[in-house]
Amino acid sequence: MKTPEFFKRSELTATLWLFRREFLIVGAFSMIANVLMLAPTLYMLQVYDRVLTSQSELTLLVMSLLTLFLFAVMGFAEWMRSRVLVVAGVRLDEQLSTQVFNASFEAHLSQSGNVPSRSFGDLIQIRQFLTGNGVFAFFDAPWTPIYMAVLFFLHPWLGVMGVVFALIQAGLAWFGHRHTLAPSEAATQANADAGSFLQGKLRNAEVLESMGMIRNLQARWADRHQTYLARGAVSQHLTHRITAISKFIRYTQQSLALGAGALLVIDGQLSPGGMIAANVLMTRALAPIDMIVGSWRQFIGMRAAFARLETLLLNYPPRDPAFKRVAPTGQLSLEQVCAIVPERPTPILQNIDLQVKAGTVTAVLGPSGSGKSTLARVLVGIWPDVSGQVLLDGLPINGWNRIELGPHIGYLPQDVELLEGTIAENIARFGKVDPAQVIAAAQSAGLHDMILRFPKGYDTPIGEAGNLLSGGQRQRIGLARAIYGNPVLIVLDEPNANLDDAGEAALFRTVQELKANGKTVFLITHRPGAVAVADRILLLRDGQIQAEGPRDAVIAAVQAARQPPARPAPDLTALPA
Ligand code: ATP
Repeated sequence: MKTPEFFKRSELTATLWLFRREFLIVGAFSMIANVLMLAPTLYMLQVYDRVLTSQSELTLLVMSLLTLFLFAVMGFAEWMRSRVLVVAGVRLDEQLSTQVFNASFEAHLSQSGNVPSRSFGDLIQIRQFLTGNGVFAFFDAPWTPIYMAVLFFLHPWLGVMGVVFALIQAGLAWFGHRHTLAPSEAATQANADAGSFLQGKLRNAEVLESMGMIRNLQARWADRHQTYLARGAVSQHLTHRITAISKFIRYTQQSLALGAGALLVIDGQLSPGGMIAANVLMTRALAPIDMIVGSWRQFIGMRAAFARLETLLLNYPPRDPAFKRVAPTGQLSLEQVCAIVPERPTPILQNIDLQVKAGTVTAVLGPSGSGKSTLARVLVGIWPDVSGQVLLDGLPINGWNRIELGPHIGYLPQDVELLEGTIAENIARFGKVDPAQVIAAAQSAGLHDMILRFPKGYDTPIGEAGNLLSGGQRQRIGLARAIYGNPVLIVLDEPNANLDDAGEAALFRTVQELKANGKTVFLITHRPGAVAVADRILLLRDGQIQAEGPRDAVIAAVQAARQPPARPAPDLTALPA
């Protein structure tokens, strides 16, 4: 069947549409269960009005067995509909979790979206609602009019009474929705804020402890937590008040229905069996409305989670399943590239034009804040907002599927960012560990002997964020990870910041090896020694290229510029004397 327009809006709605069969099956089982809900009513009518008057035990036995059978069918239908929804819930999760994972990852990368943990919480919330009791209320609610019709059939006044109570309950549900929506969303938001504040700060536990900052932070977190508690209390008070009113109405309705029935029996307009049956039926007719009122909070939470997840998946749709491309050689060209940040009036990088042949080592120099790390991110195609063209082998780098491009790229960021796992797993980028390649990368990075000195060698766990290693060791493992698997474009952002002389010498040897193997290397550094291994130099200042070209030509130009004192000289601090 063709997917209707509405369901094409996002992956989320489109995926839900895939479950239409399951919803139809649940609807069918709900129909069976709800029709059979009339069985106790009929049984009571028969027992009071037929069995008691005829005194026939056989009729009672037959009626009882039949009713028992109908109850069994009803129980089976209810069990089946729960089962179908639980299985569908697991499948829904399986269908969506990869997309949610990828989308939240991209949102994180572009620093503008949900945090990943929240998105998975949202997915769980949707699944729990769709497989929980609350959703059955929505399947049972359409049966309320049918029960009402039977009530009208028993006696018009009983029908009127049922309608009045249904309207009151529905009004209460609507009132609940209007008044609890804002406070409950505000409470959820405040809770998420307090949670992410705490999570962010706990990552820097050592800094907090060493400078006694914990109390200051605790006070700031407590402010946020208080906001959550206050907003949560407002929303809970309201919900409880509505639940209490709803209970009051339910009890009133039960007694009044019986009273009204009794009055009709006294008047001779209804049989005693009809009175009892009407009472059971009315309670049954109002049960879904009652359930909707009870699970309103859950429904609102689910709706908000749905909207958040839908926005996330709309903003970060699955990428094109990549047209298979030939492996790049590492030739790079930047045309009028600007790296943009929404909150900054001027781009961080402006009008960068650059042509780099495969097998070239480029040293990127410039003062702090000149845009070197940003250029590194642009070069590997992870800066979210870039204008102009970044072409790898003549093709836009952001047109690649990252999974396909990743193995061709080596990137060592300024903050090395190792992941929890073993040294071998980190070097092998968490793919299938190929021992020969891991050792080759470690040897190139001058790391092999150091790793062998660890008690567990390559299987040494490095702890979360690599915090069981020294800064220099982390940097070398990051370098080995960057060159693992023979990538063609390697961008190293201050790879020697934490290295001793031996480490730096190993790094330069690695760069020379890479160059000899025809790889394209960008070496971002503050240390002048790196210039010696470079073919080209790129000098950045205030996000613009100040000088760029073959190493000796740039050095000569810079030195010439130093001569006449009147001309403004480019920043030379990073160049060798
Ligand atoms: P350093 O040598 O100190 O590492 P750098 O040359 O690598 O500096 P970048 O990290 O590229 O400089 O930063 C260049 C400028 O861009 C800085 O002014 C920085 O504040 C700004 N910047 C970097 N990343 C972002 C971001 N995500 N959002 C907003 N501004 C940013």
